[in-house]
Amino acid sequence: MEKIKIDKKASQSLDKYLEYRRIVGDEDGGTLFTQAQYEQYKKRVVPQRMNNRLYVSFGVPGEGLECKLVGPETQCFCSHRYKQHRTDFEVLSSGAPLALPCQVKGCRCTAYQYVALSGSQPARCRCKHKAEDHSEAGRHFCNMCASCSGFQSPYTCGCGQPSYAHHTLVETRQQRLAEGKPVGRDVPYKAMGGLTGFSSLADGYLRLDITMTITILLYIYFFGNNC
Ligand SMILES: [Zn+2]
Ligand SMILES: [Zn+2]
Ligand SMILES: [Zn+2]
Ligand SMILES: [Zn+2]
Ligand SMILES: [Zn+2]
Repeated sequence: MEKIKIDKKASQSLDKYLEYRRIVGDEDGGTLFTQAQYEQYKKRVVPQRMNNRLYVSFGVPGEGLECKLVGPETQCFCSHRYKQHRTDFEVLSSGAPLALPCQVKGCRCTAYQYVALSGSQPARCRCKHKAEDHSEAGRHFCNMCASCSGFQSPYTCGCGQPSYAHHTLVETRQQRLAEGKPVGRDVPYKAMGGLTGFSSLADGYLRLDITMTITILLYIYFFGNNC
């Protein structure tokens, strides 16, 4: 096995980089912000994120079950990830349900929508065609057949209800608090969606953190306190 040596400085800058990505996402347009731009970005966006965080989950209305908590990497019907949708709002309009449109150029998705997975693939529609064979816009009509009245998957969720009985729910912090649902701790990260607790780690998003922790622990183990 090849030995990989990570010195403390490198591991610190990797840590900083991962932190930067979780906060900024792709909003730097592919060119890293300068330190000043980064500070400015945080000053503008982080308080708004703390106040106006949106919690996204997939469940059966009225049952109070959250069958899937949507995180930054969770795929939408449009095939793009949650973090590629609009998730930051300066002000939240009260009342009207919030739609989180996809921000990928050319994508016509107007509202983030989770699709239940069958294995590792999005579950198929009643018309037997895949989610990706349906239009990402509007009611998701099928591009492959005329019999489809809009994507509806009969796939049975872990809760026992068919997938089509579920909805993608977007809630504000206030709405969740009013219903006694967990809101998690305040985080400055972009597109955290419905991730609020330890169980959310299963989603894989924070696995990087665990890898980092192991790296640091190994480092301390091998190099003792000399560093
Ligand atoms: Zn999209
Ligand atoms: Zn989408
Ligand atoms: Zn079809
Ligand atoms: Zn269909
Ligand atoms: Zn369910």
